[in-house]
Amino acid sequence: MSESRQTVSETLAEIATRRPVLQPVLKAFAPLLEARAALPEKLAPLLEESGFALPPWRQERAQQGAPLLAGASLNGLYPLLLESAKTLLPLMASMPGLGEHAEALKTFFQNETLTLKASDTLLTGHETALTQTAEQTTIPSAVLLFAVEAVVGPVLHTLAKKYDDPWDERPSSWMQGFCPVCGSFPSIAYLDKRVFDEKNAFLAGGGGKKHLHCALCGTEWHFRRGACPSCGQEGSGVMEFLRESENSHGERIDWCTKCKSYCPTVDLRERNAVPNMDAMALGMMHMDIVAAQKGLTPLKPSFWNQF
Ligand SMILES: [Zn+2]
Ligand SMILES: [Zn+2]
Repeated sequence: MSESRQTVSETLAEIATRRPVLQPVLKAFAPLLEARAALPEKLAPLLEESGFALPPWRQERAQQGAPLLAGASLNGLYPLLLESAKTLLPLMASMPGLGEHAEALKTFFQNETLTLKASDTLLTGHETALTQTAEQTTIPSAVLLFAVEAVVGPVLHTLAKKYDDPWDERPSSWMQGFCPVCGSFPSIAYLDKRVFDEKNAFLAGGGGKKHLHCALCGTEWHFRRGACPSCGQEGSGVMEFLRESENSHGERIDWCTKCKSYCPTVDLRERNAVPNMDAMALGMMHMDIVAAQKGLTPLKPSFWNQF
């Protein structure tokens, strides 16, 4: 999406004004979100130095639903992972529930073998391997997963940026509800604004197309509105949404009546500015609570929506 977006702090400030009750949580996560957003630019030169060979984009593979980095190893990217860890770990140390594990996490990421092994589990989908790794340390597996995702995310973001064409402009080539680059499920979705293009009538439209946002690598892609990103079922009555009756500002939860998974969604036609999506996902935590009360499961568990 070419439209300019708010920064993390602009998005959080707007959410805090509308929902003062969320202020303490937003404040706790803000430094981490801001640092994560700034890291890819810092890591880009390290990626060039590493000589890491990025898997090429192939139409057939995409049609088969294989994410670009599926099964790839981050071997060779330890300098980027270490830089990311050095930047983010001190910020995590001040977050509730993480401080007591700060030293153990620091030791963990100083170990190249353990770091690469844990990072690769995010691309192989072998979460049990990460649990086993956690068992070799004193770090609870939920904390380790959060830390590994936080540290690996900006590195994957740096890799994802190397694929020049936005995924949103290749709508027919990727049909899956998981990320075309890293394979992770989206943390948030948005419906785009109305488009006005004087020169190209084909591009003009009423907006409302659905896009999914990957919190891990930052990739966004177009997805069918009537389909469930989790179980893939499609048709009338499959997807429903929940929203507050007043002052929702386009914030809602899209949930699947078949598999009971949900994804927070923001309808940009009901907002002026386009938010930073990672900050927005955090700012929709009140909707996560509504979803939990309804017995729904988050498509992408975050530190704040695992009840
Ligand atoms: Zn991704
Ligand atoms: Zn479903």
